Amino acid sequence: MAVAVCLMSFPLRASGRRPPELRFELDPSTVTAGRTLVVRFHSPARIMNPRMTLNDRSAEFYSVSTGSWRAFWGISCQESPGVKNARFEVLWNKRVIVSTISFTVEAGTFPVSHIPLTKSQNNLFTSGQLTDDNEILAAAYKKAPIPRKMWSGYFVWPTTGVVSSVFGARRSYGRRPPGSGHSGMDIANVEGTLITAPARGRVVLSRRLDSFGNAVVLEHGQGVFTYYLHMVKPLAKEGDFLEVGSPIGLMGKEGIATGPHLHWSMVVSGERVDPREWTERLFD
Ligand SMILES: [Zn+2]
Repeated sequence: MAVAVCLMSFPLRASGRRPPELRFELDPSTVTAGRTLVVRFHSPARIMNPRMTLNDRSAEFYSVSTGSWRAFWGISCQESPGVKNARFEVLWNKRVIVSTISFTVEAGTFPVSHIPLTKSQNNLFTSGQLTDDNEILAAAYKKAPIPRKMWSGYFVWPTTGVVSSVFGARRSYGRRPPGSGHSGMDIANVEGTLITAPARGRVVLSRRLDSFGNAVVLEHGQGVFTYYLHMVKPLAKEGDFLEVGSPIGLMGKEGIATGPHLHWSMVVSGERVDPREWTERLFD
């Protein structure tokens, strides 16, 4: 995979002390909408609290080894193609140093799917219940992340079945025009199929929501979360630490669903991204 480098250098200060010159490594060099960008840099000088911010969303950099830092940046499936300029901020020598990280986004290709709704499912849209339930989920996956990276290696698929809807599919509910992209991947199988943790994590939410049935949100550290919807029965409770393969719940068709399936979402720096990428690419 191609890696781009964007160089950041600071002007000389009057005192003659020069802040470190940082080279940002962008992996991949051009990132597709709906995928995850990894940004790395090395600083020979002692720095603190590096972070990047774009459109009111931030990601912290975490130290991977002495002087080496890394951030995971999620790109929305609806992100417009082009060059993005994120603000970079770091504390050096008791001053805040500000710079820019530039990266390029290319469009993804997403199919359109039509989802019929029953009357009661349609009511979840019109009553505002769906908006409320989405906010409950977002509050769980947008909380201040724990700095510890809990996962190692590839994420594994949380269940078995067929992919009935891919991430980013533009969905038309009832007779509504296609709206925002599908925020996860749907895996369909028979009701009661076991759903397990794809990586180590901690349960930060486990509750029933009218729109989504039994829902579980897992935190994996460093701003990475996954969540699981429409389950007929949850098997994990808030505060539980899960290993790879630990039970999360049983597949169902609760809430807005046309048949038994798991809706599996992945969140990186507050943005939903394609979970399939994390099963095929190492983010170690
Ligand atoms: Zn879904």
